[in-house]
Amino acid sequence: MATAWKVGSDIDAWCTRCKMSLGHTILAMVGGRPVRVRCNTCHGEHNYRGPAGADPRKGSWEPREVRERREAKPSVTSWEALLAGKDLSRARKYSAKETYAAEEVIQHPSFGIGLVQEVRGDKIQVAFKADVKTLVHGK
Ligand SMILES: [Zn+2]
Repeated sequence: MATAWKVGSDIDAWCTRCKMSLGHTILAMVGGRPVRVRCNTCHGEHNYRGPAGADPRKGSWEPREVRERREAKPSVTSWEALLAGKDLSRARKYSAKETYAAEEVIQHPSFGIGLVQEVRGDKIQVAFKADVKTLVHGK
């Protein structure tokens, strides 16, 4: 990022009042980095905090709820990661007559190995490599 910031420039920053990343105007700079900004939306002045999702190695501040939402994103959890640490050799064969519990590894005749993610009454949500399927159990 080779953005040349200067006082008066527009910059994306976390607004402490609006509680979201918005366009701000730089009011003060220290060492080539903005330190004080004014929100273009609520016109509140506050210390500069990088936009949500900014590189944490730069020490920019990120609100907890944003970080949790990012970490909870299902797209970052691969099927392999879900099954890491699970004993696949103990996968139970899937049958609608059996009853399964969350976190259990099952072996389905067509979908293969899957991890039970959720139990909702007589239905289980199972993450297979190709797709997440809803299956019946305890019939
Ligand atoms: Zn604001």
